[in-house]
Amino acid sequence: MKCLACETYEDQPQEFTFQDATIHKLKDFDEMKILVCPNCGLGVVNQQIDATALTDYYNSTYGGKTKKFALSDMGNPLGTHSIDFRSLSQIALITNFLELDESRAILEIGSGKGDFYIALKNLGINSKYITFEPQKEAQQKLRHLGIETINKSFEPDDLAEREEQYDLIVMSHSLEHFHPDYVEKTISAINRMLKPGGYFFCEVPNADLSQYPNAGERVVPHLTFFSTRSLNHLLSRNNFKINFLKTCGNLQADKNANEDRKRSNARGMYEFREDPDNERILRNVYYDNYLEEQSRKAFRKNKLLKLFVTILGERISKRIFDLIGKMRRASVEDALSTEYFRYRDKAEFIRLLARKG
Ligand SMILES: [Zn+2]
Repeated sequence: MKCLACETYEDQPQEFTFQDATIHKLKDFDEMKILVCPNCGLGVVNQQIDATALTDYYNSTYGGKTKKFALSDMGNPLGTHSIDFRSLSQIALITNFLELDESRAILEIGSGKGDFYIALKNLGINSKYITFEPQKEAQQKLRHLGIETINKSFEPDDLAEREEQYDLIVMSHSLEHFHPDYVEKTISAINRMLKPGGYFFCEVPNADLSQYPNAGERVVPHLTFFSTRSLNHLLSRNNFKINFLKTCGNLQADKNANEDRKRSNARGMYEFREDPDNERILRNVYYDNYLEEQSRKAFRKNKLLKLFVTILGERISKRIFDLIGKMRRASVEDALSTEYFRYRDKAEFIRLLARKG
């Protein structure tokens, strides 16, 4: 096998299986193995995955990282939106290298429910912004926010008509969902879509399985598993100059997925049922119940907010909500200065900023 990142050949790469999933999954994940390059630590799945089945899965069942945080905002009568600290911390990094103002054009690939865009708005940054997003529920929220959205996964062919259009392209927890066969084509397409001197920002899990096999990064539905070394190889070979490549988040050594798995198992978090509409999808019973409980909570919160507005009137309610918003914003600096967002070695997320050419 030739490594797609460092291009060395290895006849007997290390093999891993996917760990138990606490969300829904495709049966394919139980059948696939992850092969890891001993030279650069890149992990790739060893099988093709049916594109239609994967699209179905994303559209109908996969909420990803944003699901548990964003649900409560769906029906807020005053239209305020929660600020995502991760996005703020990412923007703080990017603006060290690139000034973001209304003259800039940003493309995000896989925005989820628009956390990055909302953070930009909260900082008063009015750059032009467009996103590719395949997930239906996320698309609904993006529409609600008035964001220009292309309702599909990004494919390398989408670069046609987009050559040299953007000052910044963002992929936050998105590249690891791409099948290894498309990773390099995607990176190369990103390079061509950037204006000369444009920047690519990328955040992925630090899933170097050769170093951290028990950090719980062998997760469904990721298809490619990056290390800092593999990203360095991949970007450098594709006409990028790397400005920043470091890790942040919790330390990988502090995690123990085996222990977590035992606990989750005891709580019944690995019980699956076949999806009645699609036999390739296995629905996690615990996760379904959790989501139901979350929407019930959001519904109750929404009702309470509406009552609040009815009693106090729109003007006074808006003032109170603005005040709460200001108080929450004051805590942003505290949040961003915690260890979690500090750049240090061997932590769980890799952040990369690279310049075209
Ligand atoms: Zn390699």
